[in-house]
Amino acid sequence: MDLSEALTNTASAEQVEVFGEVYREIVTDERGLTKRELCKEAFGLEDGYFADRIFAIFDADHSNRVNRDEFILGMCALVSKDEETFVEFLFDLFDSNDTGEIDEDELYQGMLASLRANKLSIAHRIEDFFDGEGSATHKADDEVRARELAQEIFAYTGHETSGGITKDEFKNVFFSYIEEWGRLASPLTKTRITTRKFKQYLSQNGATTENTNVTGKKKKKSLIKRIGKRITHNPQRTFWLFLWVIINSGLFFGNYFYYKIGRPELFELLGTCICLARGSALALQLNIAIALLTMSRGFLTFIRNAYNGEALNYINLDDNVLAHKMVGITILLLAIIHTAAHICDFSVIGNASADQVNSALGTNYTAGTKPSVADLWLRSWQGITGLLMLTCFAIAYPGILDWMRKRGHFHIFWGTHQMLIVFSIVVMIHGSQALLGPYTAVYWILPPFVIYLMNPLQRLILFSKENPVRVVKRSFLEPNVLGLELERNGLDYKAGQYVFLNVPEISLFEWHPFTLTSAPDDANLTVHIRNVGNWTKAVHDLYLHSDSDLGTKYENSVITATDPEAQADDHYIPKERKIVKKLNYLPRIYIDGPCGAPSQAYERYKVNVFIAAGIGVTPYASILSHILNRVRYHRKTQAAPEFDSMLSSDNELGLPIKKVYLFWATKDEMSIAWFEKLLKDLGELDVSEMIEIHHYYTSAHEKGDLRNALIGMAHGIQGQKMQMNRNRYYSHYGRPNWASVFSGIKKSCRMIDSKCGIFATVPPQFRTMVKEEAGKASEHDFRFHFTSENF
Ligand SMILES: Cc1cc2nc3c(=O)[nH]c(=O)nc-3n(C[C@H](O)[C@H](O)[C@H](O)COP(=O)(O)OP(=O)(O)OC[C@H]3O[C@@H](n4cnc5c(N)ncnc54)[C@H](O)[C@@H]3O)c2cc1C
Repeated sequence: MDLSEALTNTASAEQVEVFGEVYREIVTDERGLTKRELCKEAFGLEDGYFADRIFAIFDADHSNRVNRDEFILGMCALVSKDEETFVEFLFDLFDSNDTGEIDEDELYQGMLASLRANKLSIAHRIEDFFDGEGSATHKADDEVRARELAQEIFAYTGHETSGGITKDEFKNVFFSYIEEWGRLASPLTKTRITTRKFKQYLSQNGATTENTNVTGKKKKKSLIKRIGKRITHNPQRTFWLFLWVIINSGLFFGNYFYYKIGRPELFELLGTCICLARGSALALQLNIAIALLTMSRGFLTFIRNAYNGEALNYINLDDNVLAHKMVGITILLLAIIHTAAHICDFSVIGNASADQVNSALGTNYTAGTKPSVADLWLRSWQGITGLLMLTCFAIAYPGILDWMRKRGHFHIFWGTHQMLIVFSIVVMIHGSQALLGPYTAVYWILPPFVIYLMNPLQRLILFSKENPVRVVKRSFLEPNVLGLELERNGLDYKAGQYVFLNVPEISLFEWHPFTLTSAPDDANLTVHIRNVGNWTKAVHDLYLHSDSDLGTKYENSVITATDPEAQADDHYIPKERKIVKKLNYLPRIYIDGPCGAPSQAYERYKVNVFIAAGIGVTPYASILSHILNRVRYHRKTQAAPEFDSMLSSDNELGLPIKKVYLFWATKDEMSIAWFEKLLKDLGELDVSEMIEIHHYYTSAHEKGDLRNALIGMAHGIQGQKMQMNRNRYYSHYGRPNWASVFSGIKKSCRMIDSKCGIFATVPPQFRTMVKEEAGKASEHDFRFHFTSENF
């Protein structure tokens, strides 16, 4: 069949018109399209395997140019609505020798290209991890992984020994797994073809590409509508904010008018300045108290746990950091008003006569003893303490800037923030002489100050009384994530909570928060530490080098504390050593906690959605294990009851949970190791499809892109082998489409309850997007309650 005959038989009139127009748009030479024009400029494909193969398929007459008819025919297959035609195109793509069969080497080449195109290689981190191994490791790991996956597919189709995969075999295997992802949408998600008709054609044919948004404009909502939506979506936060504004205004203006009307003698001399100084002083005291309480971890954990979390119905403790930041800024503004007002007061008092001052303040100055402006600033109690407070501000406030906190200078932020302890003490004594009004600061600030001090005090007691905890095991689930198993030492905690860790071998002063990934009913504690900065790197180095078999393996390597001395002597800590290069024991760790965390509130919902990016999955690992432990325990003690009925109400499991979704976005596929055991347990326990895990490989191309077809196929086969894809584990490529995720959840869970808890541990931009979509998806009869946690 020649080209024009094939065209008449294959392409519809519409396709000829649309693809013909596209061709005219991109062609620059009458001989036809070059590889660059077709692959790079039209499809956005980098030079390499996929560009070569697609060009070869399009260039049917091997002329090294793609003419109009070849282009139309190629496009018909590439963006075909018919899945069969598209899968045939895929087969041709990977049958690089054009033999009508895909042999193992062809499959390997296709897989290697797919892994690299999707940036699913683990190499860059391995390079970071094992000094000196460099690009050789990179190459080897890509290739090993590609070979493994190719063999997986090859063995599955029964071709271990001879022959290749035929078109029919390929179709059968491909369809049985790919359909799990949903219908193939478009083979290329980043086509750069801008022709309007082409975009319309794709969207009419169910294809989704980044460029198919024909109108392309985002509607902006009016400010009032946005505020209205915020209020209705978060009535609790609105209530507390409103209360805070009312109390602040009441204190400020109450005191302002008290001095204006109730203290005429003072007002006559000092005017509005004294009203502003006293109004701001009272509001300052309230805000300092709130700033201390919102950072009192023990206090917050106590409230969170009290009465089974009933308090959370009235106050959103997860807003503590937000509230702390808000009152922090308010303190700064009020302090500026207070200082400016006192500059004015001091200048009036310094320049007024002794009689005027005496009658206003009730003092007994004579012309010779009345203080000057300089005396008031440098020799009076109020002046000196005021200057001291300003110094604390000048040291602490620059430290709160994002670039200081988040760019590896957290210790500076933390250290300078401690000046606020000095500040709180000085505030309490600043007005103690009650010169201008009653002394109230101590009543406002002392109780929260004592509550706040419990945290550092607890750590001091920990150092003085208790020994650090023994590390039982260390493992690397991924090269960049260190797992530590620690002795429990009676620590009682809830799933989702976190602890502060101190590794004396590294520094006695640094405490860092880490979520407990073990379940509360596990025998030992586990934490997983991602290497992101100075301290975590030091911990990784320390434990990597803390065994006899130094870091030659990374994958699922488990090292157990075998050193007899370390195990026998409970007080064994080699204090004399700073950074230890090679240890034959696992250094011990101090644990402070547990601390309450937002995700521990999951038990309040029948339907839960957990959303995590990368290491943010830690709280959910603990929660899911906890749920499974409970099921296992119940199965042991009961005569195999249905899981559904066990969890349908508050029962002896104490979990009213009916459905749990975990959406986990990671850059690569190595991370699956985290849930391997959990997923196997899910399959084993068969918990009525209660738990669904959706894993998004975000560095990969979107679903349906031909560059991830082979990887999807291999994952499907692996999942089947591991018994973990029984509608519980789904892998996806690209980013989640939250609108459709939430609408799907709404549809399937409406029968269960009228609300759903969303717990997210994701970066800020991701968080805003999820929150917005959850807000949009909420309806009066099914609401999404969004809570997020910052790592
Ligand atoms: C409640 C909570 C739970 C966490 N759970 C985990 C977990 O399970 N696994 C995990 O790998 N990481 C977790 N983290 C993050 C972890 O605490 C930081 O990555 C670690 O402290 C970084 O220290 P660094 O000196 O290596 O990095 P740096 O380069 O100093 O900082 C990297 C980032 O960590 C933040 N950070 C640094 N020190 C602290 C600290 N003492 N307290 C809070 N934030 C800090 C910084 O703001 C910065 O954004 C959690 C954080 C919080 C707040």
